[in-house]
Amino acid sequence: MQCDICAIGCEVFEGGQGICGKYTLQAGHMVEIYPDRYLMICPISIETMPMLHFYPGGRFLQISTTGCNLDCPGCVSTVLVKEMSHNSAAMQHMSPEQIVAEAVANNCLGIAFLMNDPLASFHTFLRVAKCAREHHLLVGCSSNGYFSEASLEQIVPYLDFINIGLKGFDDASYRRCGAPLIQPVLENLRKLHERGVHIEVSCMSDKNNKQALLNLAHYLADISGDLPLLIMRYIPLEQASPDLEISIRESEEVQKEIQGILKYVYLFNSPGCDGLNSLCPSCKTMLYQRDFYGPMGAKLRTRPDELLESNVCPVCSCSINFRGTSRREAYQEKAFQGGYPFTRALEMLEAMLLAMGMHDRRQVSVVWEDILVNQRLEELHHDIQRLPSYLDTLLHCGEIAGCQEQARELANYIRSRMEIVKEVKNESGFGSRPRVYYAMGKPLFCIKGERMENQLVEAAGGHSVNRELEIDGRPGARISAEQLMALNPEVIFISAFISSSVDNFITACREDDIDVEALRTGRIYCHPAAGWDFGSPRWILGLMHISNMLFPNSNRFDIMAEAKEFYHRFYDLEFDPVSINRSFGKPHIQWQWQQSADLITGNK
Ligand code: SF4
Repeated sequence: MQCDICAIGCEVFEGGQGICGKYTLQAGHMVEIYPDRYLMICPISIETMPMLHFYPGGRFLQISTTGCNLDCPGCVSTVLVKEMSHNSAAMQHMSPEQIVAEAVANNCLGIAFLMNDPLASFHTFLRVAKCAREHHLLVGCSSNGYFSEASLEQIVPYLDFINIGLKGFDDASYRRCGAPLIQPVLENLRKLHERGVHIEVSCMSDKNNKQALLNLAHYLADISGDLPLLIMRYIPLEQASPDLEISIRESEEVQKEIQGILKYVYLFNSPGCDGLNSLCPSCKTMLYQRDFYGPMGAKLRTRPDELLESNVCPVCSCSINFRGTSRREAYQEKAFQGGYPFTRALEMLEAMLLAMGMHDRRQVSVVWEDILVNQRLEELHHDIQRLPSYLDTLLHCGEIAGCQEQARELANYIRSRMEIVKEVKNESGFGSRPRVYYAMGKPLFCIKGERMENQLVEAAGGHSVNRELEIDGRPGARISAEQLMALNPEVIFISAFISSSVDNFITACREDDIDVEALRTGRIYCHPAAGWDFGSPRWILGLMHISNMLFPNSNRFDIMAEAKEFYHRFYDLEFDPVSINRSFGKPHIQWQWQQSADLITGNK
């Protein structure tokens, strides 16, 4: 029988499964194998979904399961769509009524299915949507939009909002993800619009797909020039090639060009830029100001009070395409909650285990389950930001995974290098603590003081000026040029996760009229490879690099030799910076799990 849940239409035999591994044929009916099981249930602000034009700042209950109907290279949700077992002990069993009760208890406006595709848990989502509608809650999701005609017809009456993530604008882009054609998504977009569902469209931007984005923008404009387009600057993860990574600067140019086609165009994954803000399409008054809030996420910062009452520009009275008015206060998520930071948390644990030589997904899952079942995400968030507690967490993970010896070897290596860094710091004398600023992306995105990057600066003997500011964002917030100039750093580091070249960084400083000592003396640095300052035990390489840059007279470490040794000892790989992307976990684009038939329980 042909499965009619998504437009791939797998042929499924009695007792068999389709390619997503989430449904089976039983007595002539497609049934969900793992219904009513969730990996994540938590309140979020809707911009983390992301969704920018729907009840701005509104609180919704996020629900996420596991699995996906597509298989896209470099997926940001890989840990939960491909690696977490569908019947993991970490899954929470909740009936639709319990989910709705949870949303009501948390004062949520509605329920949003995100992080993995609702098509992977369609019957569960449909039941939740029906129950939510009975209780007057709003319902939405992030989806690849690959609904079959039948499933779209079933869900549309209960759907208020949807973020459709396009994989490109041609069949080849869909074939790379395991689907034959783009057409079902394009047809569904039109149908959803005609049926009055609030739609926002996401599409990734890389070095090669500008024309595809322009074509998409024209297609959307033909449906409605009011449709918001969310451009996701490509972050190369998993096996995705780092060669396609487009700079923030280039992405801003693409955004500008598309703004000539559509009224509302946004740029994500580009901290410090203006690309997430909403201007009035008519008089260009600033309406909503937003910050980068982790991968694929945004956070509402400010908006005029008039937008609490109506969706009309307070200056020119032009009507703006927002559904529902803004909330007074945006909800503040707890640690690792609200969209993709949860996947980053799982990846950071994976990163520790991979550096212990793990190649078995089951051992990684055991650690994930320990953290999730024991509700230790808050504690993890605290512990991974501080060097001593990072090592304790690493040893704890090694113990749970049954690789204590490898964990000890890694911890001992890190401690030995930290000792040398401390020696350099002590030799430099207390009077010579350079003032160091840590930026992410563009110069004005200040990484929050308590974060790991600033701890590395202090461990190396610098004075972190980021700590002088009260920053409440995640992983920081945009500051003003005046604030940065008042800090007047002598040295600047650019994050190794969301980065910029030093040249682009300097150009951006000049455009913002920033004049600080680090700029005058040329002491602005990127790390030699991604993953060297957060998210992976490779931060020890970043710490040594920071030490060298802060105290060039000492220049104690041969950084490339250290990186080679680290890769040999802990990954059994050659260190090759061009094959390293921005994954926390996977140290190299060719890195692979051990293949074994019994490895995967229930996953494809
Ligand atoms: S929902 Fe799963 S089984 Fe059904 S057609 Fe899509 S991929 Fe195949």
